[in-house]
Amino acid sequence: MRRTMSKMKGATQRPATKGARRLPRESVEARRRRAAEVLARLHEAYPDARCSLDYQSPLQLLIATILSAQCTDARVNQVTPPFFARYPTATSVAGAPREAIESAIRTTGFFRNKAKSIQGACERIVEAYRGDVPRTMDELLTLPGVARKTANVVLGNAFGIACGVVVDTHVQRLAGRIGLSAQKTPEKIEHDLMDLFPKEEWIVSSHLLILHGRKVCQARAPRCAECVINRLCPSAEAPPLPGLDRSSAPR
Ligand code: SF4
Repeated sequence: MRRTMSKMKGATQRPATKGARRLPRESVEARRRRAAEVLARLHEAYPDARCSLDYQSPLQLLIATILSAQCTDARVNQVTPPFFARYPTATSVAGAPREAIESAIRTTGFFRNKAKSIQGACERIVEAYRGDVPRTMDELLTLPGVARKTANVVLGNAFGIACGVVVDTHVQRLAGRIGLSAQKTPEKIEHDLMDLFPKEEWIVSSHLLILHGRKVCQARAPRCAECVINRLCPSAEAPPLPGLDRSSAPR
């Protein structure tokens, strides 16, 4: 097993943040075991991992998720309380003047497109689903501005339905660096992660990877020496600090 890991380390000659990726040479079963160990260590490191958007209903989470594109969750959480107080239902959002919505969400960026998506989604929710956010992937994908990522966030967190894995920019980056997917598109990366992770981990796995991406495996300068999955990662650029090197290989 050590030889396998040493091959994995040696196979990555390029910086962890650039270029096309090749997966470590390992069987699918070995990759699944490594993926399970990655999740186990991230669970230990982030025992309270959860969605960092504030919401009290599926509709609020849907709107917050649309607002979170190209924006920090902290900023979205500042904008949404007054927005939800003013527009508490899909009907109220659908009937609001577009300019008023734009003004309320302006600081999240791309506010014209986001206002269009939010209002379009609410109009369809009112017309086709009696004002309630639908509970299936196929139905959610009929809402303007909603793709698989947003649908997975809503299904997983508001309804507890594991339909897929949320792939945002953090998950996309980490899946490549950790050697879980060599794919480039979110849809294909999601497919690989669904194959590697057991279904009961699909919802929480994205929270874990996103937290790790924010805190440690950052886009420009991954803090590999402080990384709890250092020995499981083919892109590690430095050995782990003493105390983190608990075992050298996946079991
Ligand atoms: S060792 Fe950790 S921080 Fe470094 S590239 Fe891998 S996952 Fe990211």
